[in-house]
Amino acid sequence: MNERMRELAERLITERSLAGEEYQYLIENRSADAAAFLAEHAVRVRREIYGNAVFVRGLIEIGNICKNDCLYCGIRRSNRSCDRYRLTEEQILACADEGYLLGFRTVVLQGGEDAYFSDEVMCGMIRQLKSAHPDCAVTLSLGERSLESYAALREAGADRYLLRHETADREHYEHLHPPEMSFDNRMRCLNDLRALGYQVGCGFMVGAPFQTSQHLAEDLRFIESFKPDMCGIGPFVPHHDTPFKDEPPGTIELTCFLLSVIRLIYPPVLLPATTALGTIAPDGRERGILAGANVVMPNLSPVSVRKKYELYDNKLCTGDESAQCISRLEQRMNAIGYEIVTDIGDIRKGKCYE
Ligand code: SAH
Repeated sequence: MNERMRELAERLITERSLAGEEYQYLIENRSADAAAFLAEHAVRVRREIYGNAVFVRGLIEIGNICKNDCLYCGIRRSNRSCDRYRLTEEQILACADEGYLLGFRTVVLQGGEDAYFSDEVMCGMIRQLKSAHPDCAVTLSLGERSLESYAALREAGADRYLLRHETADREHYEHLHPPEMSFDNRMRCLNDLRALGYQVGCGFMVGAPFQTSQHLAEDLRFIESFKPDMCGIGPFVPHHDTPFKDEPPGTIELTCFLLSVIRLIYPPVLLPATTALGTIAPDGRERGILAGANVVMPNLSPVSVRKKYELYDNKLCTGDESAQCISRLEQRMNAIGYEIVTDIGDIRKGKCYE
């Protein structure tokens, strides 16, 4: 590490903040020893708050019908080869029951933007989930909706909402999305969710097409100011039926580096070692945890639909990715010195992080 790198890394650790150009310098000049240094401190600050806990969430992919046309996504509406499905309410509730028996105390309902999952349908389902399992958190990841809709879902009992900002750079946002989607609406959604009292997750893909280190620096500045309760980052992985099919994937190395930086920016953040990270390397999950992540989200969807929720090529959905294999995942976490925790796993904000 050169002197400037060391100075920036140390300031990030003590002040939890850098200027945009400084993040950019850190990213552009990163090295194996800088990554190791930041990971060591990321793990230390995480341990002070969470010990050696890794939280688990059961992910139910409720449908892949989507009105949006995000250029990177395998379930975009223009993809005619996508085999569409929508789970019934009974199927979704049965998945949640199964998850409960497996020990999960958070269910995440994720899906494409499908008008079938109206406020009425979703509110009914959330109420049923909450009355069947009052000790569970319900997390939603259903894309952009109106303030009124988010308010109704919150009122019905939803606790958390995951909506990646995708990129904090307006122009970059426009390169990843069709003209009818807007950066302003994405940000409006995140702010509405926060105002309604949700625990809110943002995030972005590492190595997304057209992404520069300046964009990543803007993402980090955004995370500094927004202080998300959760932050999902994983490598971009191309999908063969999208306009980005020939783009190179993001790297595990840069993803892990950024996981450490995000942990240091906001120590209490809940940071998943994502499925995409597990997809690009067999030890991706472990490397994510060792860089500062503290959440894993195994797949609880019915086996019959799992392959259809194909956001990108070769997306993992079986083996240790499967919620049913939680004990194998547990062994893998134990092997690197961590414990799987199946409680509700809320963000733990101390005085200094509020
Ligand atoms: N419709 C919901 C859920 C989207 S899928 C929503 O809009 O929030 C969840 C996340 O998967 C997206 O936010 C995106 O960041 C990620 N994703 C989509 N396509 C991907 C790809 N090709 N590679 C890696 N991650 C991808």
